[in-house]
Amino acid sequence: MSNESLANLLKEERRFAPPAELAAAANVTAEAYEQAKADRLGFWAEQARRLSWETAPTETLDWSNPPFAKWFADGKLNVAYNCVDRHVENGNGDRVAIHFEGEPGDTRSITYAELQREVSKAANALIELGVETGDRVAIYLPMIPEAVIAMLACARIGAPHSLVFGGFSADALATRIHDADARVVITADGGYRRGKPSALKPAVDEALTRPGTENVRSVLVVRRTGQEDVAWTEGRDVWWHEIVERQSEAHTPEAFDAEHPLFILYTSGTTGKPKGILHTTGGYLTQVSYTHHAVFDLKPETDVFWCTADVGWVTGHSYIVYGPLSNGATEVLYEGTPDTPHQGRWWEIVQKYGVTILYTAPTAIRACMKWGDDIPAKFDLSSLRVLGSVGEPINPEAWVWYRKHIGADRTPVVDTWWQTETGGIMISPLPGVTETKPGSAQVALPGIAATVVDDDANEVPDGSGGYLVLTEPWPSMLRTIWGDDQRYLDTYWSRFENRYFAGDGAKKDEDGDIWLLGRVDDVMLVSGHNISTTEVESALVSHPKVAEAAVVGATDPQTTQAICAFVILRGGVDAEDAGLVEELRAHVGKQLGPIAKPKRILPVAELPKTRSGKIMRRLLRDVAENRTLGDVTTLTDSSVMDLIQAKLPAAG
Ligand code: ATP
Ligand code: MG
Repeated sequence: MSNESLANLLKEERRFAPPAELAAAANVTAEAYEQAKADRLGFWAEQARRLSWETAPTETLDWSNPPFAKWFADGKLNVAYNCVDRHVENGNGDRVAIHFEGEPGDTRSITYAELQREVSKAANALIELGVETGDRVAIYLPMIPEAVIAMLACARIGAPHSLVFGGFSADALATRIHDADARVVITADGGYRRGKPSALKPAVDEALTRPGTENVRSVLVVRRTGQEDVAWTEGRDVWWHEIVERQSEAHTPEAFDAEHPLFILYTSGTTGKPKGILHTTGGYLTQVSYTHHAVFDLKPETDVFWCTADVGWVTGHSYIVYGPLSNGATEVLYEGTPDTPHQGRWWEIVQKYGVTILYTAPTAIRACMKWGDDIPAKFDLSSLRVLGSVGEPINPEAWVWYRKHIGADRTPVVDTWWQTETGGIMISPLPGVTETKPGSAQVALPGIAATVVDDDANEVPDGSGGYLVLTEPWPSMLRTIWGDDQRYLDTYWSRFENRYFAGDGAKKDEDGDIWLLGRVDDVMLVSGHNISTTEVESALVSHPKVAEAAVVGATDPQTTQAICAFVILRGGVDAEDAGLVEELRAHVGKQLGPIAKPKRILPVAELPKTRSGKIMRRLLRDVAENRTLGDVTTLTDSSVMDLIQAKLPAAG
């Protein structure tokens, strides 16, 4: 960004008060902000007591060597014990932990007592395979219960896991195995994706031929599809059902230091070479447990929680595995895609299990908008009481659609801002406290300190934009980048002194609420004004003909950058309509002012997205500037770019 602060163009006046009933019984009230403000570390020490510690910590934060934090350093605990065993000991062994729904329609409900037996057996199997405390285990699995069981088994024996999303290629897997120096890989023959079995094991076999992966001794293979002829390396490959099933159901968990590594997770790679983000035990579990309790208002006896993310992303780690299970939640785990075998599959699942809390991403919400309001309308969604969003800024129109068509215009929507690096939710409304604003993540959670600063690190006044920073350490913060302390310092702590630089642009509105405006690298400079891609996209999506939009700044001789928009139209809209582009330009001009009018608007069928569903603007910038495309390996479907490039000459 240039020295000019980010323009504040979008005006959103809609407000939604928390439902009175929810507010009256909310897990967390406004008092929590006061309490945390008066004694921040005391507040986190209290939240740490949500967990069962074998040795309770006496020290909360050690910040003597910033930015290398230690939280609860003299405490000891076992994460799997906290997520499983203690619920059984507390008399909740018969409660369902996981309702698994396979894509082909097979189902399996696992109680906490069963989960305890499964995790213990898997832990014993890993020990038989020679896995020791501190050894890294790579997990490359579809969304099946064994993914959760494997993670908890690793945590149980103190072996940090590194999940690699099942959609990633052999190359991506090999790089991650190498970087973490993994000793064991846990995978499956395959999984179900879009109605078909899709093989996984061949990618592992290929990855293990690459240099740097020689230390992998064993590959543990879950049989999921049973349809492939699975290539087998004797002495290395072991079937899960052979080794795990014959283990003892008893395993005594050992307590580990609060700062023992829990997992490494590589960021999704929206912006470049993936970074191995390291999370540790006590602080991480404290914050994901507290935020899951506070932001979703979870009542473990009655709620059915469903986070639609893949376990391979941080959202799956924190809000499928560690947050919900540490809180004794009942949750849904779904293997497949939202439109298999039909576009109402998710809503059918909500109806079937009586889901009360749904946590998903803007990309999915915009896809549902595109498919049409009539699809969710066919299902009974009346069990829902809280809706969450994460992953990208949510356009106000998508937020309102979500509340109206999924939440019956009744449920609060919580827009949660956080990152792989932050480990847990940082900025979000609280459903029983906050009067929500569509499109805004609004306020830092109790115990979290966030603000917006300008180029010189000065806090911007209300009504202005700049860079989002975190000004105090937090329990679930990354501890470093695996094996690269210098990159940790350079990436997050060198832009502003003593402040964590998140890499996102943001603004504070007149009430001091925070609005995320997209990545700093994506901010456009037009005739001397910094303009947020998010705001122009949101203006386009607020037009009834547009379902989704991606905006980039392309080099322009007159204006430095010119705004170039790629739009997906709603069902039934004619892309060839001669007046359409002008109509959309005029609409943006009216919403945001003439400066924000796109110079070019190109209707497209699909947008390039990462495998976690985020728009990859840098590729669109390459297209708009007629450059050869940059790295496309993290794209879901690289043919999307060919289609877009083929259409380009038509752009005016
Ligand atoms: P990489 O860092 O490798 O480029 P990534 O940033 O996409 O990948 P994640 O850690 O999964 O990987 O995503 C965090 C980012 O997602 C945030 O920095 C922000 O840009 C965006 N984000 C997440 N939640 C929100 C939200 N509620 N509102 C706006 N942006 C969000
Ligand atoms: Mg990032």
